Amino acid sequence: MNQNPHNAKSSLLIYGIREVVDLANKLTDLDPTLDLVWENIGDPVDKGWPVPPFLKEILKQEIDRADNRGFAYTHSRGNIATRKWAAEYCRSFCPAATLGYEDILFTNGLGSGIALLYQMIAPGGRVLEPCPTYPTHASFESFCSGQPPIFYNLNPNLNWEPDLDNIEANLVARRDIVGITIINPNNPTGTVYSRSILEKIVEIAEKYKIMIIADEIYWRMIYPGATHYSLAELAHNRVPLIVMRGLSKDVPWPGSRSGWLEFHNTDLDSNFKAYAESIKKRALLEVCASTLPQIVAPLIYNHPGFAAWNKKYTEELALVAGDITKYLQQIPELEVNAAQAAFYMMPYFKEGALNNKQTLPIKNLAVKKYIEELVNQPSCALDKRFACYLLAHTGIVLVPASDFFSPYPGFRITTLERDGIKRKKTYETLIKATRDYLKSA
Ligand code: PLP
Repeated sequence: MNQNPHNAKSSLLIYGIREVVDLANKLTDLDPTLDLVWENIGDPVDKGWPVPPFLKEILKQEIDRADNRGFAYTHSRGNIATRKWAAEYCRSFCPAATLGYEDILFTNGLGSGIALLYQMIAPGGRVLEPCPTYPTHASFESFCSGQPPIFYNLNPNLNWEPDLDNIEANLVARRDIVGITIINPNNPTGTVYSRSILEKIVEIAEKYKIMIIADEIYWRMIYPGATHYSLAELAHNRVPLIVMRGLSKDVPWPGSRSGWLEFHNTDLDSNFKAYAESIKKRALLEVCASTLPQIVAPLIYNHPGFAAWNKKYTEELALVAGDITKYLQQIPELEVNAAQAAFYMMPYFKEGALNNKQTLPIKNLAVKKYIEELVNQPSCALDKRFACYLLAHTGIVLVPASDFFSPYPGFRITTLERDGIKRKKTYETLIKATRDYLKSA
């Protein structure tokens, strides 16, 4: 080639949740007897959770329509009737919100919405990201800025709530920060933020004149006893705000690839308004987001059976997560925060529990060689070493906490195993392997 097309900034793109899939598949190529137990991807459907029967009925009716509208392009920013519904839907639980349908943008899943947001930030502007984080946010922000991510800490001793002093210290130190990302309910920790913390974040954003990017994709999946406070309500008329929602998790329909962005409080600041417009303009170039899920979204969420469906689904998720918490708490070297929403947990090892001599037996020699080469690279984090040995020894696929940029070595696990017998087997295996690993050196 006359020029090198490879963008060196691609090294800033980190997504361990899926990178481990390649590793696990490679190991099964080497040892077809290795039985994989996928606990890495937050896909309820793939883990056997049902989709609402009324969703299938709605889709069948839509597909059979004579005008075939579900097969056509839609408006570039999203089907207008659906955007009107989305604005009204938001106002139904955030009565203060004043957004109209032009403030809604549909994207091909939030993954694509997240990419758009960071891509359209003016050169030199940075967004402060939570640490640990859902890596799509930090990686895209970092890739688009060409710099390592800038983080604020989530405090595991305070239920993984954002460390407000650390947020403020970052804002004092760096005048290039134009926004802060809040993921609530949180992936990877599974926790929900208190109202007072969110109110203080709004105050800080107001004081330093930055926008808030609120990823609330899990807002309908709050376990009994916990409460979710929406930033659309708390930041109303105070701070420029983008809220993200989508169909992947709460319907659940991850394969729909459908989500939306809400631009709130655009009249507060002309620069924010121009930024929001630039995102919408950028979306035109992609023609439009997937039509069918957009058309049926209002019918699903407005369906008379949806609230009961969502309640039952969330209650069962809470029971499964509670059961998994009890298993993980049997490992004394592990700190385990109970989940309050969604389907994730991020247990982490107590200081000094991990070292770079620990191993687990691996019977297949080709797998052993492959894993040893991987974990003996100087850049291999201690929790990645643990995750690699666990995978090769047991077939359990989890994601090291360091892949979520966590300073606390541990792992993120999805709490989606519905089948109690399989769950018992997986977690008993995990507990025994972890104990053996920790004792090995
Ligand atoms: N935001 C968070 C916090 C997530 O956990 C995920 C997926 O796991 C997404 C966004 C992306 O969702 P999707 O692209 O399926 O809409």
